[in-house]
Amino acid sequence: MEKILIIEDNPSNMKLAALVLEKAGFCVLKANNARAGMEVAKNDMPDLILMDIQLPGIDGLAATKMLKDDSQTSKIKVIAMTAFAMAGDEERIRAAGCDGYISKPIRYTQLVDQIRLQVGFSGGNNVQ
Ligand code: MN
Repeated sequence: MEKILIIEDNPSNMKLAALVLEKAGFCVLKANNARAGMEVAKNDMPDLILMDIQLPGIDGLAATKMLKDDSQTSKIKVIAMTAFAMAGDEERIRAAGCDGYISKPIRYTQLVDQIRLQVGFSGGNNVQ
């Protein structure tokens, strides 16, 4: 079963993202800040990280860059979640090494579709 690590500091966003990914058939790991998330990434080697950009302390883009610069974790796919869709954002997100991004508020079928695309996962359950 594919493991997805969600790094998100907002409890209700975390709860909803975890619920929909569990329903879709993924194994969900959670961290509410970048430092904890990087530890989980190294210890559990998830297939993909859903990374909130705005985190307390180390932000999501800096954390992504650190993960991508580390040979142990560089192959883990990262999808950024951003509340902003301003000019230049996609460029900054790509420059940090993210494999994709989604805008908040999250649309859940879109989220699951993008994750399945990134991890090459076609099994599991359909999300209604
Ligand atoms: Mn946040």
